[in-house]
Amino acid sequence: MSSSLLLAGAWFAATNAVLHPYEAVEPHMGTLFRIKLYAANQADAQHAFAAAFARVGKLDRTLSDYKPDSELNRLSQLAVRNPIHVSDDLFRVLAASQQLSEKTGGAFDITVGPLTHLWREARKKGRVPSSAEIKQTQVKCGYRKLRIDPVAQSVEFAEEGMQLDAGAIAKGDAADQALLTIGRCGIRSALVAASGDLAFSDAPPGEAGWKIGVDSLDSAQARFPKTLVLSNAAVSTSGSTEQHLDAGGVRYSHIIDPQSGLGITRDITVSVIAPKGIEADSLATAVSVLGAERGLSFIEQQPGASAVILVNESSRPKLLESARFQTLRTLP
Ligand code: AMP
Ligand code: MG
Repeated sequence: MSSSLLLAGAWFAATNAVLHPYEAVEPHMGTLFRIKLYAANQADAQHAFAAAFARVGKLDRTLSDYKPDSELNRLSQLAVRNPIHVSDDLFRVLAASQQLSEKTGGAFDITVGPLTHLWREARKKGRVPSSAEIKQTQVKCGYRKLRIDPVAQSVEFAEEGMQLDAGAIAKGDAADQALLTIGRCGIRSALVAASGDLAFSDAPPGEAGWKIGVDSLDSAQARFPKTLVLSNAAVSTSGSTEQHLDAGGVRYSHIIDPQSGLGITRDITVSVIAPKGIEADSLATAVSVLGAERGLSFIEQQPGASAVILVNESSRPKLLESARFQTLRTLP
């Protein structure tokens, strides 16, 4: 029998197989990665889970700013005024970050590492950094001090002491990459969730899409939609109050406004729906920094993206939806 006949036979069997739901969870990137998928049998599902979690593990070893020997952290020593060739994975994330920094005038900034480390310490000590500390640290930040060369696939820092922090984009990217890996295992319908960052491929068999709950839509301010029904898309939620420091009656978020060097103080929760996780994750953080009004008009200009934003100003919660968000398929 020819190999093309064999292949045709296998495809026929695969498309007619009854698919069953499977689920697995593993800790990665400081959170739990949960994968749901539809496969013909347990062995196919296990194969896809193992491959997807291995892919996420590799990305964590590349992009972590907690692991001293990650490829991202090694750049701090190597890349000062010295272009360093980087892996495809690191370059993809840096290129997407730099593009978003340009578009947001630096509201999103992957070079914010020295500031996020300063504020991590501040949260531990329960003390807001002094303005002198913030100013000194800001010298080591700024996306314009990070040069990337797409031809050489290299990265260079203009200043000593620069540190990258992919915390606002890596989980969304990892969800995309896990989905791609699962797809290569022959599985078309899967969902990957890493706390607030979700990405999904085709709808579950016989359904219109994956049913995705968004916290802010469950709030009293929601007008009607509760559950989104989506396929081949991603949803990320960023919350300013997720991790924070309370001092002097002010709540400083773990999300930093690179311009002021301060943790943002507005109470905002942003969910972004976009074609890919790398976009949804980074856009949700960017909108948190831009604030509801500027953030919403920015989202309106991003092809394929939509957002729902919950803001709490003077204890008056307000829900804002982008125009495209109102056209998404929902369940009551
Ligand atoms: P997310 O939960 O996706 O909103 O990401 C928040 C994390 O992104 C923070 O814990 C920091 O590690 C990092 N981060 C904070 N501020 C910024 C910023 N302005 N631009 C990019 N990353 C940031
Ligand atoms: Mg994010």
